[in-house]
Amino acid sequence: MPQPSRPAVTPVIAIHGGAGTITRASLSPEQERAYHAALAQVLAAGQAVLAAGGSAMDAVCTAVQALEDCPLFNAGHGAVFTADATHELDAAVMDGQSLAAGAVAGVSTVKNPVQAARAVLQDGQHVLMIGSAAERLAARAGLELVAPGYFSTEARRAQLTAAQASAAGAVLDHDGASQLAGLAGRPIDEGRKMGTVGAVALDAQGHLAAATSTGGLTNKRPGRVGDSPVIGAGTYADDRSAAISCTGHGESFIRVAAAHDVCARMAYGGATLQQACDAVVHGTLAAIGGTGGLIAVDAQGNVCLPFNTEGMYRGVARVGQAPETHIYR
Ligand code: ASP
Repeated sequence: MPQPSRPAVTPVIAIHGGAGTITRASLSPEQERAYHAALAQVLAAGQAVLAAGGSAMDAVCTAVQALEDCPLFNAGHGAVFTADATHELDAAVMDGQSLAAGAVAGVSTVKNPVQAARAVLQDGQHVLMIGSAAERLAARAGLELVAPGYFSTEARRAQLTAAQASAAGAVLDHDGASQLAGLAGRPIDEGRKMGTVGAVALDAQGHLAAATSTGGLTNKRPGRVGDSPVIGAGTYADDRSAAISCTGHGESFIRVAAAHDVCARMAYGGATLQQACDAVVHGTLAAIGGTGGLIAVDAQGNVCLPFNTEGMYRGVARVGQAPETHIYR
C-alpha cells in the first residue's frame, strides 16, 4: 500500500536576543540599526543551514553560536558579570525528534557554551553538567577554551558597577541596561533588557530543535543557575508539539516550567501554539510577576514570539523568504 506522503514543510528558524525594558526612547538609531543588522545576519546563517537541508539542531546551534560571538547580547563574549565580577555561563540544547537534551551551567572558560551543551547531548550519559567538569567534557570534545576575560566588555563592567551602586540586586540584562544607563546619565537600555539568546527551528524533515545561551543576570550570586539550562524551564523541544527558547527573569520561568508548559498545553489540552504561548507568557508567568518572553515554532511551521516586557530582540526567517527582525512591541 502506498505510504501517505508527509506534507511538505517550509523550514523556518526564529531567534531572540533577550527581552526587557527596550523602548524606542532607550535606543539610539545607531544602536537600533546595529541590533537589526546583527539579528538579520544570525538569521541568514541559520536559514542557510536549513536551506541546504541541514537539521534543526545544526541551525539552532549555528545561530546561537553567532549570537554568543556578538557582544551586543548577554551570552558568550559580552556576557554579564556576577556579583564577584566573574562570568558564569549557562546553555542548553534539545532535539525534538529524540527528546535528547544537553546543558551546561556555571562554565567560565568555554568560548561557545551552546557547543558544550551539544557535546553533553552527544556524549549521551547525562543531561546537565556544571562548572569545571562541564569544561573538561567540552575540552575532550575538542571545543575551544578561552581565558575568562574573553567574555568581559567594558559596557558589562559598567552595568555591574551601577547595579552594585544602586543596590538593585541581580538585574536582568536589558532591564539593568536601562536602569543603569539612567544612573550613568545615558539613555536607558543595556541592562534593563534580558540579553539571553536563543533559537528554535523546524527543518525540512519536519523535526524541531531549541537552543538557549546566557550569562544570566547582572550581579547574580555566584553559583546561581537560571532557567536557560534547565530543560523544561528555559528550553524544550518535542516534535509532537513545539520547540521553545525563553528569556526573562529565570527564577519565574523555572517556577512555572515555562517551556514545557507550552508543549503540555498543546499535547494535553489541544491548544494551538499561539494559545499555549499566550497562556504561559501573559497568564501563568505574569501571575507570579515573571517578566520576559519566548520564541516558539511548531511542527507545522507556525511561529510565535510573545513577551510581556516592553521589547524583545527577535526575528524569523523562512527558507526562501527575507528574514524579519523586530525589537519593540
Ligand atoms: N533567563 C535568563 C536567566 O535568568 C536571563 C535572560 O533571559 O536574560 O538567567
